[in-house]
This record gives sequence, C-alpha cells and structure tokens, in this order.
Amino acid sequence: MADQTTHKSLFKEANNPSNIMPAKLTRDSNLKFRCHPGVSCFTACCGNVNIFLTPYDILRIRRALNLTADEFLLRFTTPVFLEKTDMPGVKIHLDAEGRCPFVTDEGCTIYPHRPTTCRYYPVGMSFFHGAAEEGSGAEEFYFLVKESHCKGHDEAQMMTIREWRQDQGIDESDEMNKEWMELVMRRKSFGLQATLSEPAQKMFFMASTDLDKFRTYVFSPSFLNTYDINEETLNQIREDDVALMKFSFKYLASTLFGVEAVKIKEERLKAKTDELRQKQAESEQTAEQTYQELKAERDRMQSQISQKTKKK
Ligand code: SF4
Ligand code: SF4
Repeated sequence: MADQTTHKSLFKEANNPSNIMPAKLTRDSNLKFRCHPGVSCFTACCGNVNIFLTPYDILRIRRALNLTADEFLLRFTTPVFLEKTDMPGVKIHLDAEGRCPFVTDEGCTIYPHRPTTCRYYPVGMSFFHGAAEEGSGAEEFYFLVKESHCKGHDEAQMMTIREWRQDQGIDESDEMNKEWMELVMRRKSFGLQATLSEPAQKMFFMASTDLDKFRTYVFSPSFLNTYDINEETLNQIREDDVALMKFSFKYLASTLFGVEAVKIKEERLKAKTDELRQKQAESEQTAEQTYQELKAERDRMQSQISQKTKKK
C-alpha cells in the first residue's frame, strides 16, 4: 500500500465535454499535475464514474485479491456494453453511495493493481481514424480532462505525458491490452450497421472477462479438433494466464474479423467445404426437381387445353 501515500489517479469519461481541454497533445507535451494524499479533493474522483475494465485489468486485480474470475466478476463488476459498440464487457460495480468498492479514506486499496482507466486520469488517449486498425502507435493523440473539483492541476509538478505514462505504469497496461483495444477500436470504426451475432458477443465476453472459462473452452475436444494450435502454444496457455489472454485476443481477431491468427485445421476446412458443397448440390437438385415438376404440370395443362380445343 505504499503508493497510497504517493499517487492516486483516475481517468473517467467527463460527463461534461467542456472538461476536455481543446488541445491535442503528444507524448512530448507537458502535463502540470500531481495527485497525492495532501490534496483537499483526495479520493473525490473515486465515485460516480464508469471504470471499464480491460482483460488485463481483470486478471491483475483478481490475482491480487486471490479470486477466481467468476468470483471477481460477481462481486465487483457490472456487465456493460463497451462505449459506442455492441461488444459486451464489465465496469466496476459502485456501492450504494456510488463509490468504488476499493476506495478508503487512505486511498485506493488496490493501487499497484488499479485499472488502466485510473492510471490515465487526467489524461485521455485516442486515435486518429483508422490508426488503431493498423496497430500504429504513431497516430495516437492525447487530451487533458480538467474538472473543477480536481485540485491536482494546481500543483507545481511538471512532466511530459511520456513520463506520466511511465510513472503510472500505463506503458505496461497498454502493451498488455494493445491487441484487445485494437479489436474494440476496429469494431467502433465499423459503426453499428452490422451487429455482432449473439454467439459472437458471448464469445467476446467470455474471452475478455473470464480466462478460467476460456481455458476450459480452449482445451475442450471440439476446440482442439477444430483449430490448429501447436504443442508449444498449448503448453504455454495451459498454465500461463497472460499467455492465454494474449492467445484469446488472437482467437477473437480470427473469429470476429477473419484475421488468420488462429487457423482452422485443414481437414476441418475441407469437411466444412464438402458439407457446403453437398448442401449446394442438394439445393440445386431440389430446384431442378421443382422445375421439372412445374414443367410437367404446365405440359399436362397445355395438353388438356389443346385436346378440349380439338373436340370443339
Ligand atoms: S480502483 Fe482505486 S483508483 Fe480506481 S476508482 Fe477505485 S479506488 Fe479509485
Ligand atoms: S480529484 Fe484529482 S487531485 Fe483529487 S484525488 Fe482525484 S485525481 Fe487526485
């Protein structure tokens, strides 16, 4: 808990857009800010706020609390759609007073493991359109959130955003979450013209929030019979949660966006192709049969008409 006496910060979506300063910042821009227990507003920002959790946030916090994914999700989170997408995720479940369950008068009780959102505040990061899809860090930009109750802006400490990122452990968080964030940004850039199917949403939710369940799924016979995963990867993801999390990002990229990160076995592909061909052949056969029946019926009617005409 040593950090409870040094820093505590939180990034939150500003309810009022005027809290976002109009300047676009880079990693080299200066940030005049310091948060510490001596500020009059200490812990004021740990309530009435949406704290979305990334897969790495969930893993890091539940490990620190010694909880299974299930227990952590049930006790501390609320399901929610990630901002402006149809991708389901979770945010921290606030208590009856609207406070984060991890805050005390002394500060954040999970400070070394705090969510990425909390590490960023009062800085926000976004991407120029399309940059996230290519995974290009060069196109990122930053902005400052300046809320009147936050007295950290009155402090004299000055550092660049690059230094702020290091100081708050944002570099490590972002590195861990990178591929997952790219999926969310990619989905966001598609808009909601095409919605994710319910099974795809369920898969995204499971892989993003519950690595215990995802591991059971990956080691099920149907998964192993379908996907081409080498022994080395299987050995890694059997025990190592971070390796499994990174594998889950690749799997989601494959299933949601058709990226060839996790391959389907050749024989399964062939079986699927054969099945589709078979179905196509069957429907062509049905169509041909229907056509022949209709043609026969038409011929029969025509012959009846011509016989009647001859009798007259
Ligand atoms: S996790 Fe910690 S820093 Fe974040 S809102 Fe809760 S108490 Fe505050
Ligand atoms: S409101 Fe600002 S200065 Fe106050 S505790 Fe939160 S981040 Fe720190």
